[in-house]
Amino acid sequence: MENLTRGRKEFMMYNPKSNCADEFISHEEIMDTLAYAKNNRANRELISQILEKARERKGLSHREAAVLLDCELEDKNQEIYELAQQIKKDFYGNRIVMFAPLYLSNYCVNGCVYCPYHAKNKHIPRKKLTQEEIRREVIALQDMGHKRLALETGEDPVNNPIEYVLESIQTIYGIKHKNGAIRRVNVNIAATTVENYRKLKEAGIGTYILFQETYHKESYEKLHPTGPKHDYNYHTEAMDRAMEGGIDDVGCGVLFGLEMYRYEFAGLLMHAEHLEAVYGVGPHTISVPRIRRADDIDPDVFDNGIDDDTFAKIVACIRVAVPYTGMIISTRESQKCRERVLHLGISQISGGSRTSVGGYVDPEPEEESSEQFEVSDKRSLDEVVNWLMGMGYIPSFCTACYREGRTGDRFMSLCKAGQIHNCCLPNALMTLKEYLMDYASEDTKKKGAALIQKELENIPKENVRAIVEERLTEIEKGNRDFRF
Ligand code: SF4
Ligand code: SF4
Repeated sequence: MENLTRGRKEFMMYNPKSNCADEFISHEEIMDTLAYAKNNRANRELISQILEKARERKGLSHREAAVLLDCELEDKNQEIYELAQQIKKDFYGNRIVMFAPLYLSNYCVNGCVYCPYHAKNKHIPRKKLTQEEIRREVIALQDMGHKRLALETGEDPVNNPIEYVLESIQTIYGIKHKNGAIRRVNVNIAATTVENYRKLKEAGIGTYILFQETYHKESYEKLHPTGPKHDYNYHTEAMDRAMEGGIDDVGCGVLFGLEMYRYEFAGLLMHAEHLEAVYGVGPHTISVPRIRRADDIDPDVFDNGIDDDTFAKIVACIRVAVPYTGMIISTRESQKCRERVLHLGISQISGGSRTSVGGYVDPEPEEESSEQFEVSDKRSLDEVVNWLMGMGYIPSFCTACYREGRTGDRFMSLCKAGQIHNCCLPNALMTLKEYLMDYASEDTKKKGAALIQKELENIPKENVRAIVEERLTEIEKGNRDFRF
C-alpha cells in the first residue's frame, strides 16, 4: 500500500456533498476503507451483515462493498456471486442491451501514456471523419442492425471542437437508410465546460460517458503528464458540470490495470455516492474496461493488471453495491471472459466493434492498425446476437427510456419502484424482432423467433402481452419503432 500514500501530505476531509474532487474522492478515506476491508476480510459476522443488507437491494456503501471485494471466505464469496446473479436477474432479467462505438477523430493533444492516440505518437495515422464519412460509417452500422452508438473522439480544440461533435450528432440522428436509424447517441468526449455540456444536452445525447481512468490523483498526474487532461480535479469534477449542464445520465468507469484495483473500486463507488448525494441520482452506467494492447502500448508495462477471477469479483461486487446502475463490457474482453461475467451483472455489451477512425467502412490491415485498443472479441454483431440467444439471453436494441424522457431521476424512480420491468421485456422483444426482420442471418432468425415466442409468456400483464403480439405482427408487415 506504501506507493499509494507517498507524496500525499495534506489531509482532505471526506465529504460526498462537496464539489471539490479532493473531498468527494478523499484519498485518506479510500486508504482508510482499504485498511478496514483488509482487517475484516475474514470477519464472518460483518460479512454476513453486509450481505444481509445487500439482499434488500438498496445498495451498499463503498466501505461495505470494499469488505465484500476483499472477502477471503470461500462460502461467503460464493454467496456474493449468487446474490449478484440474483440481483442481475431481478433487475435486468435475461436482457442484454447492444451498442457499438463510433470513432470520429483520433487527433488528441493529451499525453495519456496508456493510449496510442497520445500527442507524441507521431507514426499513427491521424484521421478525422468528414460529415460524409460519418454518414457512410453510420450506414454501415445501421446495416449491421445497431440502434445505439457511443461516439468517441480525442481531445483537440482545433481539430475536434465542440461544434464538430454537435454537427456530427446532428448528422447521425438525421440518417435514415432503409429501416435503419440510430436512436440514441451516447457521447464519450473529454471533460469540458458546463456550457458545452448544455450544448450536448440540446443536441439530444443519451448518456455522457467519461472514464476516470484512475481515481488515484498522484498516479493520474503521472499517467497524464501533458495536455488539459493532466488536471485531475477538472477531470474528476466533469460529471458535476455535466449535471449542471442538464445531462442527467452520466456513465463512469476506470481503466483497470493502471492502479490497484481495490483503490479504483472504492473511488468508483465514492463517485457514485457523490452524484447521488448532490444530484439525487447516481451514474446511469459503469464501465469496466481493462487495459489492452495497442499501437505503441504494451499492457505488461502497467503492473496492476488484474486476472479474470478478480475481474469477475469486481463485476459481482459492483452489481451488489449499485443494483440500479447499468454495467457495460466492451469487445476489449474475449468471448470467454464476457461469457463469464454476463450473468454476474453486465447489462450492456458492444458487438461487431471497430476501434479505429473509419473502421466500419474501411477495416484496416492488421499491420497498419490505428485502433485505440486491440479488440478481443472480433465477431460480427449477428454472431454476438446468435451467441447471446444460444445462452438464453435476449439481445435488446431498446432505446425507449431516453426517447420517452425517462432519464436521470425519472428513470431511477421508475427502476426503484420496480416498474421498469413492464417496459424492458416488451421493448426488448419488439426491437429484437426488428433486428431479425431486417438484418439477421437465417440461423439467428430461427433462434430469435423461438426465443420471442417463449419470452412472450414471461410478460406479466395480459393486456401488455396482447399489445406486444399485435405490434410484432405490425413489424412483420414492415412497420417499425414501437415502444413502451
Ligand atoms: S485516452 Fe483520450 S485523451 Fe487520452 S490520448 Fe487517448 S484519445 Fe487522447
Ligand atoms: S425500457 Fe429503458 S431501461 Fe429498459 S431496456 Fe429500454 S431503455 Fe433500457
